[in-house]
Amino acid sequence: MTGHLKISAALQGANVGKVWFDEPISRHASLKLGGRVDALVMPESEVQLAELVRRLKENHLPFLPVGNLTNILVRDGGYRGALISLRGLDRAVCAPAENGRFRIEAQAGAALGRIVGLAADHELTGLEFCAGIPGSVGGAVWMNAGAFGSEIKDVLVFADLIDGEGKKKTLRREEIAFAYRKSNLPANVILCAACFSLSKGHPAQIRDRMAEIVKWRQEKHPLQYPSAGSVFKNLPGMPAGRLIEELGLKGRRLGDVQISKKHANFMINKGQGTASDMLKLIRLVQETVQKERGFFLETEIVVIGEES
Ligand SMILES: Cc1cc2nc3c(=O)[nH]c(=O)nc-3n(C[C@H](O)[C@H](O)[C@H](O)COP(=O)(O)OP(=O)(O)OC[C@H]3O[C@@H](n4cnc5c(N)ncnc54)[C@H](O)[C@@H]3O)c2cc1C
Repeated sequence: MTGHLKISAALQGANVGKVWFDEPISRHASLKLGGRVDALVMPESEVQLAELVRRLKENHLPFLPVGNLTNILVRDGGYRGALISLRGLDRAVCAPAENGRFRIEAQAGAALGRIVGLAADHELTGLEFCAGIPGSVGGAVWMNAGAFGSEIKDVLVFADLIDGEGKKKTLRREEIAFAYRKSNLPANVILCAACFSLSKGHPAQIRDRMAEIVKWRQEKHPLQYPSAGSVFKNLPGMPAGRLIEELGLKGRRLGDVQISKKHANFMINKGQGTASDMLKLIRLVQETVQKERGFFLETEIVVIGEES
């Protein structure tokens, strides 16, 4: 049996939410490229999520949780297993907390944009730096998303998750190790929800800062093309984009994938781009950096799946 038939058999009769079998990930990922996944499953409740994980584990089928797929490159050979999309779990609430502070509790699939808006509606400051980041709460915590000198770890109080054994757990922020664009949470952990601590701010200042950040992104980033944001991690004191530009690679194109002329740390899909072209461009950048500057430039995007 091929992958999608195995998953179909394992999920037979189960109520696990929306399921797409043998699905081109290009229909869902922000890059609009990449191969087919055996199954993309989108539970709409925690009960459905638990049942889905139970069935997949019982049948020894590989899976990976995903959010908005804005930081993932799926190789052209596709992903063998189930991608569990958390987008169907998207509740978010705001409530007062101790010491005059406030908390936003959000399910993993809630869009960052929504919780940034929720914070602003309640006149809360602390999440403005996330304005314009197109990911989900789960992806932002797993990746420790950040911008303008702030990171998601700075506002996180705790995260609810399902661990590798399928057990539900709550981890306080201090129990998770965060670094630049990464956490020590293993790939098989499913973040279900997160709680953020915020303080009262000035409504106009909050809205102005959000608008300023969104304007900055519109000016600096090639937002009219599909992308996965920054491809490479910045170095201390040297943005990866500037390095790529200095090495003369800005604008370099392979097939329909191009190192953006607007921002050299973005690779854009100009129509019929493939993961293979993007991976070749990534290697070209890494080899050039290694040769010219003597170090390895690490990717920020997560690459999964098989070669075609
Ligand atoms: C135009 C653009 C601008 C961007 N700007 C920024 C920026 O300024 N700063 C920044 O940090 N990022 C930026 N990004 C990248 C991206 O939006 C963030 O990294 C975001 O946090 C990823 O969230 P996601 O839900 O899309 O995660 P996905 O891409 O779906 O997944 C990313 C990783 O997180 C894991 N993951 C996702 N959800 C869960 C979950 N519920 N449980 C466990 N693991 C999970 C996945 O397995 C994968 O390894 C940008 C992207 C684009 C396209």
